[in-house]
Parts: sequence; structure tokens; C-alpha cells
Amino acid sequence: HPSAPSLMMNAHFASVGEDASREEYEHGIQVIDEDKLFNQNLGTYLSVEKIIPAGFNYHLISVFGSQSTGKSTLLNYLFGTQFGVMSEQERRQTTKGIWMSKNKREGSDRGMAENILVMDVEGTDGRERGEDQDFERKSALFALATSEVLIVNIWEHQVGLYQGANMGLLKTVFEVNLQLFVKDSKTSPRSLLFFVIRDHIGTTPLANLQNTLVQDLNKLWSTISKPNGLDQSRIEDYFDFAFVALPHKILQPEKFEQEVEKLSTRFREGYNDPKKSGLIDESSLPVFLPQYHRRIPADGFAPYAEGVWDQIVNNKDLDLPTQQELLAQFRCDEISREVLIAFDEKITPLEDKQADDARAGKPAVIPDLGTAMNAARSKILKDFETNASRYHKGVYQRKKAELESKVDGRLKALFQKQLSAAHKSGVETFSNAVSGAVKSGQKKGASYDFAQIVESEKKKALEKFEAEAQAIVVEGAPWSTFQHEISLYKKELDEVSGRLRKEEMRRLATRVERWVRSRLDESIGLEFNKLGSGRGGSGAPEHGDRPASEKDLWDRVWTIFTETVQDAERRFTDRAQSFDASTDEVEVGLWRLRRKSWGVLRAKIDEEVMEGNILLKLRENFEDKFRYDEHGVPRIWRPTDDIEGLYTKARESTITLIPLVSRFKLSKTSAPPPLDAWIGEAPASVSPADEEDLSPIGGVDDDEGKSLEEEMTTISDAKQADLLVRFKKTADGVYVEAKRSAIGGMTQ
Ligand code: GDP
Ligand code: MG
Repeated sequence: HPSAPSLMMNAHFASVGEDASREEYEHGIQVIDEDKLFNQNLGTYLSVEKIIPAGFNYHLISVFGSQSTGKSTLLNYLFGTQFGVMSEQERRQTTKGIWMSKNKREGSDRGMAENILVMDVEGTDGRERGEDQDFERKSALFALATSEVLIVNIWEHQVGLYQGANMGLLKTVFEVNLQLFVKDSKTSPRSLLFFVIRDHIGTTPLANLQNTLVQDLNKLWSTISKPNGLDQSRIEDYFDFAFVALPHKILQPEKFEQEVEKLSTRFREGYNDPKKSGLIDESSLPVFLPQYHRRIPADGFAPYAEGVWDQIVNNKDLDLPTQQELLAQFRCDEISREVLIAFDEKITPLEDKQADDARAGKPAVIPDLGTAMNAARSKILKDFETNASRYHKGVYQRKKAELESKVDGRLKALFQKQLSAAHKSGVETFSNAVSGAVKSGQKKGASYDFAQIVESEKKKALEKFEAEAQAIVVEGAPWSTFQHEISLYKKELDEVSGRLRKEEMRRLATRVERWVRSRLDESIGLEFNKLGSGRGGSGAPEHGDRPASEKDLWDRVWTIFTETVQDAERRFTDRAQSFDASTDEVEVGLWRLRRKSWGVLRAKIDEEVMEGNILLKLRENFEDKFRYDEHGVPRIWRPTDDIEGLYTKARESTITLIPLVSRFKLSKTSAPPPLDAWIGEAPASVSPADEEDLSPIGGVDDDEGKSLEEEMTTISDAKQADLLVRFKKTADGVYVEAKRSAIGGMTQ
């Protein structure tokens, strides 16, 4: 099997120092040297001669013939090359091997084809000199594998010498051709054998010489062994023939030059004409027919030639389709690497930026990423196609797919990281915008519409994300869709909205609680203040005609409390519904509100029954009862008055207030208010976070170990006893004062 590594050399074609190289390659390049080594600089040479970018627009001609038949001389005249020519004095053989040179007469107005490369195959008459038939065969193989036109250079006097060296050479060419192409005959290229007959004296017309040669060729063809099934094949099936005769260069130099000039014009582009295959006998027909072209792209010629030579020189079976596939793989990989350089230049900095941002934990949206990705992708695929599509179709398609998947892998990563940055920043912007709008709404004191703020910010956030995603869609890349990402984004916006709504609910709850506190502060304070007034029914607690202010204290407190909270609940519900809070959320909010309101009330009561406060109220209550008569007129004490009796009555009446204020009881039932029922069961959807800041309530939270009775106790028994003692002291003071004033009044 052909070895791939031989193609892996000569990868890059130097472009530096071209002027120096031009001089170095004045005489062309020795492609194969006398030791059968392949020249590693062939690529450089083709680059210096500007052949590399030519694609298929180049031609290759090889010249065969015996030593010293003027081959190099002819080429130098035809193509302005400087191949080594044997000096007429010395007659020594010039360097062996295969030389190549570009046509130097291109551009003159002879209409020659562009980019003609000529190979001068030296030393191909080993047979005559009894040496190195091996090289003859190898160079024939090499020339056939690469060249469109084989010029066979012979002296006129050699024509018809069937046993001559030329026939040996041609036999080799035919055999080699069968070996190379015939097994794949459908696609095998034809070749043109162009006989140049030298030193044509003119006595024998060219037509006769041509006939003789054709007969000899047919005879030769019949003698070579052919593969099975090809016994009947004709030489014309594989070769086209052309003939030209040139005058003697030394004897008729001017005529020689004229004819060479004429000959040079035939090296122009021709077109395939099915009627004209076989013998190209008209002396002015172009020689470069498309069907002769070996279809090796110019930029792949050097590695291809090297691979072919490697197979030949190692006596391996030279299989051109395989060579072309190997070449295609090699070149496609090389072209991939080349086109990736420009891609990397554009894309790597963007990848680096994303990586840096990610490391810093700040993924950012890269502006114009879409433009950059689209430009880089279409450029790299186009560049690859331009250069690589000339190679073996199957390999090209496969390598193109490989490149595309490599490129798309990287672009997709960019695409997705950009989407995720857009997602992150979009969510953040959304959250900040909503909070900001709420804050500024609060600052203005105006009631703001939370639901509407969320709605409009969500719309903005979605539009922005969609625009950012749309901007990075890569044309022709089926992976660049973002439907899924958009739905994830929507979902997160909804989650954030939910969170923000919860916060808004908390803010609302705080506002409503504050409102409850200020209402209760005032109204409950007023109820307790009423205790300070003992008038309106003084003196007969034993008859049960206590003033309403005393008897119904807790009924009124409970009513005020429940009505206030009911009012607050209504406010809370209305507002919460305006921003689409769920029934569950509202339910939890109300439950919390009731519990917190109870705490507010309880604190207010504690404040009212604080020792100093309640003592003051008791004293006022007592004084009212003691110092005013039933008509509310202040008493002027006289010694005859039953001060002691009035004092005792008033004191006892006031004393009964102490147990009254010490327990929160409804008068109808003499039982605590139904706080547990009123607060209700915790809703099923209560979360631990919802309960975090709630204080336990006795009788409501069973596991608190505190009963409703205890929850409703405002003053403990011990405190009551203490209060009683202190109150009595105060009352005693008032009594003593009254007594004194009665006596004082009398003495005056
Ligand atoms: P090559 O070995 O086939 O490349 O032959 P060269 O080009 O080196 O020429 C060999 C010799 O033949 C040189 O001395 C040339 O001057 C001479 N020569 C070149 N062209 C002709 C020709 O057309 N006729 C004759 N008689 N001699 C020629
Ligand atoms: Mg020569």
C-alpha cells in the first residue's frame, strides 16, 4: 500500500527571499537527482514561479529521447528555459535526473498557455549504453503519472529502426501506461505522444515518416503483454499522436529557428473535440486538450509528485487513485490549518474574552459577536471550498464536514455562552428595574402599580434577550436556535417576578401592620383612658351597675381589634390582588397579618397595664368615685360627712378593676375571646420562611406549652397583689388628705 507519510512533507511553501530564489532557480529545478532523490524544494520553486495559486490552470510537458538528441536545446528554444546543454566540443553527458522549468516565453504574443511546466528527462537511453534501464522505467512512470504531453525526440535517421533505443523506450512507456491507468480505464486520462523528428533533411516527407512511425508503434503495441480482456485494445484507445519535423539546427539554423517558433504556437489551450481524437496530424492544432490534464491542483503538485515518486522508487504498486486520495487528505488537512489561521485571529480573542469574563464571574454580552461569527464562518468555509474542492470529491466532502464541525463546535460554544450571559444580565436588569421602579414609586409617595411595573419590565427584558439572541444567529448553522433558551429565560423571569412579588407582599404587610399599630395605639389607648373615669355609676359595685367603661372594656377592645384587623385585611387583599398574588399567597399574608396584629394589640395592652400606667388609672378612677358626688359635683368635705364610708365604697369599687384588667375576658361568656378560631389554622402553603419572624401565641400554637388562658393574662396574680397594696396606699393618701381638708375647713 502507498505510504502516506511521504505526502506529509513539504507542507509549507516558502515565500520569503523570492528574489534570491529566482536566481537560484535560473536553470529550473532538479526534481529527481542522479541518486533518485526527490527534491524537497519543489514546492518552493512552484511558489517562486507563482504556480501554486494556479489551481488547474497549468500544464506539464515531459521530454523523452536518447542522449544528446538535442532535447534540452529544443526546450530552451521553445520555452526560453536554461536547461543544461552538452557543449559541442566535449560531448559529455549532462547531469542525469529529471529537471523542471517554467516556460519563460509566456506573456509574449504567441498565445502560449499560461503556466507551462517542462520536465527534461535526462539519460533515458540506458538501453543503448547498457546501463540503468531501471531509471528509464521509473522516469517514464513518473512522467506519465504527471504529464499531459510526452514529447518524444528522435533523429530522422532513427525512424524505421524498429530495434533502436527509441522503440525500447516507447515499449516501456506503453507498458507503464497500462500498469498505471488501464485498470481504471473509465477515468484514465489520455496522453499526447508528440514526436519531434530532428534533422529532417526533407527528402522523405513528414507524412511518410509519420506512417512508418505509426506502423512501428502498432507493431510494438501488438507485442506487449496486456491485461486480461484488453487483448483487442488499440494504442489509440490511450494515446493521441502528433508529429512535427524540424530542420537541422547546425546546417539550417534560420529554418530551424523558424520552425521552432511555429511549433511554439501549438502550446496553447485546446478544447476537447470527440471527432478529433487519435491522430492529431494538422500542423497547427493546439496540444493542451483538457482530457490530457492530470487534474492535480497546482498547490498539491509537489506533495503529489513526491508521493508518486516515493511509490515508484520503492518499487511499490503505483496506484494513482490512492495517491490522489492521500494527496487530498494531506492537502485538505493543510488547507484546513491554513484557513483556520484567519478564523482563529477573529474568534480566539472572543473565546478568550468569554473565558476571562467567566473566570471573573462576570459573563458579559459581547457586542457584534453575531457579525464576527457569521463573517468568520462564511469566510473559512468559502476559503476552504475555494482551495480544497479541487481535490478528490469524497475526501473533500469529508474534510469539509470535519472542518465545519470543528468550526461550529467553537461557534456554538460562543453562541451559548453569549446566550447565558444575556440571560444572566437580562434577569439582573429586570430585577433591578422592578426594584428601582418600586423604590421610586415609594419615594414619590404615590401608589404605584406593581403588577404593571413587572409586566412592562418583563416585556422589555424579553425583547432585549430576543434581540440579543437573534443578533448571534449564524446563517446556515442549524444549531444556532434559541427557542429552548428563551423558554428558560421566561421561566426565570417568572421565578424572579414571583420572588419580587413576595417581597412586595412583605412590604405591603409591613405597611398594613404599621397602619394597624397606629390605629390600635389610638383606639385602645382611648378605651383604657376611660378607666380613669369612675363617674356615671359610682359606688355600688355590689349592685352590678358598674359603668359601661369598666364592664365592657374587653368587649370593646376585642371589637375594635377585630374590626380594625378586618379593615386591614380588606386593604391587604385588595392591594395583593392588584399585583396578581396567588390565593395561597394572600391567604398566608392574611394569616400572618392576624397573628402580627394580635402581637401589636398584646403589646399595646402590656403598655397600658404597666405598673405606673395602671396605677395612675386606678387612682383617677378612685378619685372620681370618691371626690365627686353622683351628680359629678366635687365634694367639699365637712366634718359631718361620712368620709370613711364613701372612701371604703369608692376604694372597693376601684379595687374590683384590678382583676378585671388582669384578664382579657368577654363579658358575655366570661371566657377569653376566641383568638385561636379567629386567627385560624395555618394555611397549607405556609413556608418556614413565612413563620420565621412570627412569635408564638399561647392557645393558638399548641406546642408552645402556653394556654389561651395564659395568653390572655395581662397582669399576673403576684403583680395584682402588689398593685393592690400600692393602690391602697395611694387611696389612703387621698383619704387622709380629705380628712384633713374636712377638719381644716371646720377650723377656718
Ligand atoms: P540532449 O542530451 O538531448 O539534451 O541534447 P543537448 O540539447 O544537450 O544537445 C546535444 C548536442 O546536440 C549539442 O552539442 C547541441 O549543440 C546539438 N544539437 C542540438 N540541437 C541539434 C539539432 O537540431 N541537430 C543537431 N545535429 N545537433 C543538435
Ligand atoms: Mg539534455
